[in-house]
Amino acid sequence: MSGFTITDLSVTLGDTEILHGIDATVASGEWIALIGPNGAGKSTLLRSVAGLCSYDGSIAVDGREVADWSRRETARRIAFVPQAPLLPPDMRVRDYVMLGRTPHIGDFAAEGVADHEAVDRAMRRLDLGPLAERRLRTLSGGEQQRAVLARTLAQDAPILLLDEPTNALDIGRQQQVLELVSLLRSQSDLTVVSAMHDLTLAAQYADRLLLLAEGRLVATGAPHEIATESLVATHYGANVRVVGEGRTLAVVPVRRSG
Ligand code: ADP
Ligand code: MG
Repeated sequence: MSGFTITDLSVTLGDTEILHGIDATVASGEWIALIGPNGAGKSTLLRSVAGLCSYDGSIAVDGREVADWSRRETARRIAFVPQAPLLPPDMRVRDYVMLGRTPHIGDFAAEGVADHEAVDRAMRRLDLGPLAERRLRTLSGGEQQRAVLARTLAQDAPILLLDEPTNALDIGRQQQVLELVSLLRSQSDLTVVSAMHDLTLAAQYADRLLLLAEGRLVATGAPHEIATESLVATHYGANVRVVGEGRTLAVVPVRRSG
């Protein structure tokens, strides 16, 4: 069981209020896609849930306030992949994935069999075996993104927060990563919240979409209720057609002039 409830959440960065009075509930095992134009507050919302921003209001995971947890406690429950993770350039891939086990390894203890198994499993799932001994700086952008995802999987937290997880990936790898998240979710009751720019992928993979605009939650519902021509026109200023439905729904940009 790991759902969470956000109540009247506001976040101020510097002296600007970025998120304004957000209320949302994420059920255990659900996949939510956070959508909205650039600057809407998607990353700030994810960072708040990950315990990285101070906030007003409440974010309660299984009834407990995120702000009250230690870093280690948070990391055991919530795995967060930032939009542009900083990678230690000279570290080898396998050692980097092992960092995901940090919250499970006692202070001054060495990693144990379970940690090595979790790392091997995560590396296999992301096809990283052949890259295990490579240094991170020698990987392509997409390979680095897979290493980051492997580190996150190795963390073994029931809540996975992904900030634009498919950004640097080609269309095949995008599908592969989202299918993997979907598989993991069905195998282990994982709760997923992912910020996504690609509305087609968001609609096809998530159970529900949360649309943020200017720091407010403006719409929430099933993909076909939110990925609509009118909401996309209003909040992204984009001219699109929505074709298909359910798991084949696609949001297709339509050129305005010939
Ligand atoms: P999104 O992920 O939806 O593109 P962000 O959450 O990154 O949006 O940003 C939301 C708003 O918060 C933007 O206007 C951004 O400029 C602002 N912002 C982000 N980080 C900071 C910061 N550290 N200080 C001040 N403003 C910030
Ligand atoms: Mg962002």
